[in-house]
Amino acid sequence: MSSLHEGMPNIASRVIPVDPFDLVIFGGTGDLARRKILPGLFRRFIAGQMPANARIIGAARSDMDSAGFRAMVAEAIAEFGGMESPPQAKLDAFLKQIHYVAIDARGEAGWAELQELMKGTDKIEAYYFSVAPALFGDLAERLQQWGMADKQARIVVEKPFGRDLETAQALNATLATYFDERQIYRIDHYLGKETVQNLMAVRFGNMLFEPLWNAQYVDHIQITVAETVGVGGRGEYYDKSGAMRDMVQNHLMQLLCLIAMEPPARFDPNAVRDEKLKVIRALDPVLPHHIIRGQYDADHDDAEGHPNYRDAVGDPRSKTESFIALKTQISNWRWSGTPFYLRTGKRMSARSSEITVVFKETPHSIFAEDAGQHRNVLSIRLQPNEGITLGVTIKEPGPGGMRLIDVPLDMTFSEALGEDAEQVDAYERLIMDVIRGNQTLFMRGDEVEAAWAWTDPIIQGWEARGDVPKFYDSGSDGTTEAFEMMRRDGREWRKVAP
Ligand code: NAD
Repeated sequence: MSSLHEGMPNIASRVIPVDPFDLVIFGGTGDLARRKILPGLFRRFIAGQMPANARIIGAARSDMDSAGFRAMVAEAIAEFGGMESPPQAKLDAFLKQIHYVAIDARGEAGWAELQELMKGTDKIEAYYFSVAPALFGDLAERLQQWGMADKQARIVVEKPFGRDLETAQALNATLATYFDERQIYRIDHYLGKETVQNLMAVRFGNMLFEPLWNAQYVDHIQITVAETVGVGGRGEYYDKSGAMRDMVQNHLMQLLCLIAMEPPARFDPNAVRDEKLKVIRALDPVLPHHIIRGQYDADHDDAEGHPNYRDAVGDPRSKTESFIALKTQISNWRWSGTPFYLRTGKRMSARSSEITVVFKETPHSIFAEDAGQHRNVLSIRLQPNEGITLGVTIKEPGPGGMRLIDVPLDMTFSEALGEDAEQVDAYERLIMDVIRGNQTLFMRGDEVEAAWAWTDPIIQGWEARGDVPKFYDSGSDGTTEAFEMMRRDGREWRKVAP
């Protein structure tokens, strides 16, 4: 690893400035803006990527002026910026580029002021919809009414994008009334993660893996996104959604697409998204006994006294899942016969997102002393400790004949590339892509609809059957049924490791 590090160019210096822009953040005083968007923009500013004449304009219902908003932004950076003490001179300079307009997405208040601010600018205009989804359509309509939906404007739309196929189609149709598809950036922040892009680099930048990347050599693939947190203060919202809508339909589906898609001809937005769409359309319906849903129980040893799921959402009869595990198949030449197992949940044993490719066993063992089963396992960790591990089989050191053991070839990116390799958060990377006009890491309208078209019958199926989620212990890795599903197939889940 050290030789790789020594040979590395200075990665942090490779910041490519973007063209001047005005970014309006609708919902600029909200939780997402304070935790992710604004601190992320400050890090881009420090990295030297924000032009001096760029402006960030908060636009929200809160009644405040630009000075009040700047104070809020400074607080957000102190709390969520991930810096011990933000350099004061830089912070002051950044705040000078920040403005605020009190606005009502559904009324007239504030729109004339925003229009005045945006008038006559020849900069790139981006409008980030960081508000409740019910307001997405109103904002699009208002932007057009007030003359801000010109052909150069871009809109960034947060999740959730609909709650089923019908609502997603309706939202796509509304947005399409005012904006072209090339102006719409549907954000899925999982696509902005460094390792997710590395997944494409590993697959399509190396000769090593692609020839083996098919049902002939891959036994199965697992995707796990585990959280330790419960629903927290979002109980009411979450209970209307559940793990399938909140995580599988978007984040896990996107990871599945990237791991399973055919090589696109070019790394360009439509070439990549065409291939992802083909994966979603090739997904088989999921059989009822391949869907396991769970709800977390209270952890009785938990000193902090976290409630169980139903108490947390305030509904003792809730049938919404906080955990789901399912098995699916992709019906195409590459993958027919290789199952994909997806699993995600709250209050699990560790916070960990990992994609694991489990290769088949060697067809024949030539080593008489070795009775073990050996499989190469490639695991791609999205968080924490982003990196890639390849399990290889070698001879156990020392005497005793040719006994074999499996050892990991570990490439943790922070070790391999050095601590000074810049860590760019998903949101900051994606916002800069919006400014650059690069839609590769954003979902296209037909992709989102195809994902719902696969998801809807699964949800309708369990609703029609009246299925009730099984309980699992907080701090465990899900319901016993999820483990049984794997055991029936002669396989096992990867341990959820921090
Ligand atoms: P929030 O409730 O914390 O903030 C909402 C913002 O919208 C506030 O700034 C508020 O002033 C503004 N607002 C409300 N009504 C308005 C109106 N009529 N006109 C103008 N502004 C109005 O919400 P949030 O958690 O920041 O979420 C924003 C969006 O991002 C939602 O779509 C959410 O689903 C999505 N999202 C949030 C998170 C997160 O971690 N918070 C993660 C992923 C996606």
